[in-house]
Amino acid sequence: MGKLRGFMEFDKLEEYTLDPKKRIKNYKEFTVSPKVKELQNQGARCMDCGVPFCHSGCPLGNLIPDFNDHVYNNNWKKALSVLHSTNNFPEFTGRLCPAPCEESCVLGIVNPPVSIELIEKYIIERGFLERWIKPIIPKKRTGKKIAIIGSGPAGLAAAQQLNSVGHSITVYERENKIGGLLRYGIPDFKLEKKIIDRRLKILKKEGVNFVCNTEIGKTISVEEINLNFDAILLATGSTIKRNLPIKGSDLKGVIQAMDFLPHNNKFVDRQHKLLNKYNAKNKNVIVIGGGDTGSDCIGTSNRHGAFSVTNFEIMPKPSKDRTEDYPWPFWPVKLKTSSSHKEGGKRKWSILTKEFIGDKNGNLKSLKTVEVEWEKTEGEKLNLKEIPKSEKEWPCELALLALGFSGPEKSLPEQFGVNLNDKNNIISNNNYQTNKPNIFVAGDCRRGQSLIVWAISEGRESAYHIDNFLMGKSNLPQKNISGDLIEM
Ligand SMILES: Cc1cc2nc3c(=O)[nH]c(=O)nc-3n(C[C@H](O)[C@H](O)[C@H](O)COP(=O)(O)OP(=O)(O)OC[C@H]3O[C@@H](n4cnc5c(N)ncnc54)[C@H](O)[C@@H]3O)c2cc1C
Repeated sequence: MGKLRGFMEFDKLEEYTLDPKKRIKNYKEFTVSPKVKELQNQGARCMDCGVPFCHSGCPLGNLIPDFNDHVYNNNWKKALSVLHSTNNFPEFTGRLCPAPCEESCVLGIVNPPVSIELIEKYIIERGFLERWIKPIIPKKRTGKKIAIIGSGPAGLAAAQQLNSVGHSITVYERENKIGGLLRYGIPDFKLEKKIIDRRLKILKKEGVNFVCNTEIGKTISVEEINLNFDAILLATGSTIKRNLPIKGSDLKGVIQAMDFLPHNNKFVDRQHKLLNKYNAKNKNVIVIGGGDTGSDCIGTSNRHGAFSVTNFEIMPKPSKDRTEDYPWPFWPVKLKTSSSHKEGGKRKWSILTKEFIGDKNGNLKSLKTVEVEWEKTEGEKLNLKEIPKSEKEWPCELALLALGFSGPEKSLPEQFGVNLNDKNNIISNNNYQTNKPNIFVAGDCRRGQSLIVWAISEGRESAYHIDNFLMGKSNLPQKNISGDLIEM
């Protein structure tokens, strides 16, 4: 433990950010690095608990008190080595994770928890700055070939793990650039794409082969993949967008968030111009759906220069703090105010969109809503009830549907002959192995839409089981959680 009673001496530090009015003028990240001493003080707040619940809160099992201690003692290189031992890409989780570790931090019972995510981010940034992060090229190759389909965090983590023990890895991606939702979902103001490119450079030097613009099952047949590889990992994400099948949903101006956001990311990457239909400038924007995707639409619309931005969520407004339903150390459902929410716009809860209304040219001009109540029935189920006389019409020229995903596309698993469950996700046993022994699965296409930290965790765990399948044993690290789906 770094500093006895450090938690009594220092308050929790939130990361500094640029003023919202300034930062929405561009798409760059807007956080400002704390001083080294400030970060050391944050490390000193860790109590090095006998039972560190933060370990179990983190799907990667990050060794948090250990790296906190190294940061407190100014041993940044050691902190980096501890962090990398469980997490391939702390630069992604350090920026984007909702930090379940902090929700299970023991200090969080009585005080704000340790700033674990902040510390994680600045360990990895220091590592890149000091050039401590070098490609680790395997000494021997095993002669085994593995195809990884999908280049999101699950596919990338598996690729690095499996390459490190000498297998030959090819990652196939149907998009024109590598990264999955990190590249073409999450906006640059949350993750600048040079952060992905910096890591990809290392993976390439380590020997991972990347093939873009290649959709398996279309550009290359599944037969060819089966023939040429000893094992296959499906890491294709959860990509089927949920619709809102109500009157007017085909009007011009009703747009899927996951068409809007990738288009904008490619615009920021100077791959094309911003098409008017995806441009929120001077429009009344309504974002339907209150999750991460909805929040990213708010931030993007504000950067376009929207006239107004309003966010609808069908569920009731959650409590600001933990409730009895979610006791410590479990992940709580509570009000989340993202950096995008702080940049402007209104939020409405318990509201249901009933109809999109268009003008005579088929352009969206408004939408109709009704307020709703959620009634508890016997058991855990909630029943939706519309409140009479609560109808309202909202001016709106751009409605963004951020309603989540209903699983991976079926065509590829069907062509490979692997089974899906009733939620359309690919089924595996506890070893991440599908009903076809040489085909494994990891990430959102297995667990349903989730988080980056889970995708990295599943990529690492599946790598262990693939190595074991090919070699009869594996020296890759394993967190010792089975492939059981632990919901968070
Ligand atoms: C807008 C948005 C914002 C988010 N923000 C956050 C956040 O702030 N924090 C967080 O923790 N999580 C966030 N998430 C969730 C997180 O991005 C995902 O959980 C994570 O990316 C899943 O990783 P994955 O590797 O399983 O799949 P993905 O990242 O979806 O990658 C799958 C890849 O497979 C490719 N692919 C699919 N089929 C084929 C094929 N047949 N051939 C070749 N390639 C194929 C796809 O093109 C894609 O690139 C967000 C999600 C969205 C949509």
